[in-house]
Amino acid sequence: MMGQPKSFPLSKAQLEALVGQYPTPFYLYDEAGIRHNARAISRAFSIFPSFQEHYAVKALPNPAILTILAEEGFGADCSSLPELRLAEMVGIRGEAVMFTSNETPAAEYRAALDQGAIINLDDFTHIAFLEASARIPDLISCRYNPGPLKGGNAIIGKPEEAKYGFTREQLLTAFPLLRDKGARRFALHTMVASNELNPDYHIETARILFELAAEIQAKTGIRMEFVNLGGGAGIPYKPEQAPLDYAYLAGGIKKAYDAIIVPAGLAPLGIHTEWARVVTGPYGWLVARAVHRKRIYREYIGLDACMADLMRPGLYGAYHHITIPGKETAPAIATYDVVGSLCENNDKFAVQRQLPIIDVGETTGDLVVIHDAGAHGRAMGFNYNGKLRCGELLLRPDGSVTMIRRKETIADYFATLLPLGKTVNRKGEP
Ligand SMILES: *Cc1c(COP(=O)(O)O)cnc(C)c1O
Repeated sequence: MMGQPKSFPLSKAQLEALVGQYPTPFYLYDEAGIRHNARAISRAFSIFPSFQEHYAVKALPNPAILTILAEEGFGADCSSLPELRLAEMVGIRGEAVMFTSNETPAAEYRAALDQGAIINLDDFTHIAFLEASARIPDLISCRYNPGPLKGGNAIIGKPEEAKYGFTREQLLTAFPLLRDKGARRFALHTMVASNELNPDYHIETARILFELAAEIQAKTGIRMEFVNLGGGAGIPYKPEQAPLDYAYLAGGIKKAYDAIIVPAGLAPLGIHTEWARVVTGPYGWLVARAVHRKRIYREYIGLDACMADLMRPGLYGAYHHITIPGKETAPAIATYDVVGSLCENNDKFAVQRQLPIIDVGETTGDLVVIHDAGAHGRAMGFNYNGKLRCGELLLRPDGSVTMIRRKETIADYFATLLPLGKTVNRKGEP
């Protein structure tokens, strides 16, 4: 598959009308795009006896989006108590929830068990910790860290330097121990990549899990009910990159399944994923306005959004494509650093980017669309510098737009503060 020009679901006139109603900056998500994509994923993986995607809630923790994904048959992957509550409030229940946490507090294990979520243990010591905090459930998953067996990728790093998971030797002891402690159903998880666009990398990960499931069965007699390939499917942030070919990916995993799982007598084995970026990433945009222009040693375009709204560029130097509605075909003859208003020099959405000439102004400046912000976007934001995070809008399939999160207010910023001298209890209540 070839790369494609970056798309945005509204015309310039439609966007201007929207901005009249909801001032910039805001996130816009495309429900039809998300649903279409979710169906394409489910269709490609329908070649397996069972498939379950658990959307990683951390990437876009908004109940409106989770409701859409739940309607498409997706579950949730949670890593904290608030994320468990988000899944619960949209009706994602029981084994549709995977609780993949690490350094987990006892109270969160108890909450996950109460909800019937699948606990995915991150470490050998958590077997005793879980037993002491709550109980060993019927169904239990363990996270595998293949260490030097698998080369990492840039964002997540090398597995042997990653804090997550059990070693292979630990798993060979852990599963029999869990069985002795009452577990009856077992699963194996790993996550070794982030934003990986090469399907063969993911196929190789599946192969490693299949081989380990076969080894565990051969050595301990314990049979896995499913394997969870984790998250990490990439998206084409750059227009010249090609998206993952789901059919190729599922087909490659199926070949490994037929070569390893079937002869080992382990079929049917469920295939689970915890993807987030590839599910919603391309269907979210941060929309801002170009307010200021500054010319010193470089030329800067200052937006009304900042890295508190989207920190991937500042945090990882990540590329997010930028388009200017109405200037899609204008020649990219300017070179800008496109920046936010934070007192941090890494608050740059783009560095030395070739763009059409951008007009600036508080109310008349060009609108600026920052692409592929539908996962790990607003969710990673913060309030440093007293920045109030922007809200979120959802474009419905009928063309209407609904606000699904309001902008933060100064009252939100002050909500946790307690004046000196005020008497409060340990919870901060008067
Ligand atoms: C972040 C995360 C995911 C989702 O990752 P994507 O790269 O967005 O697919 C899934 N599982 C776990 C355990 C994670 O930490």
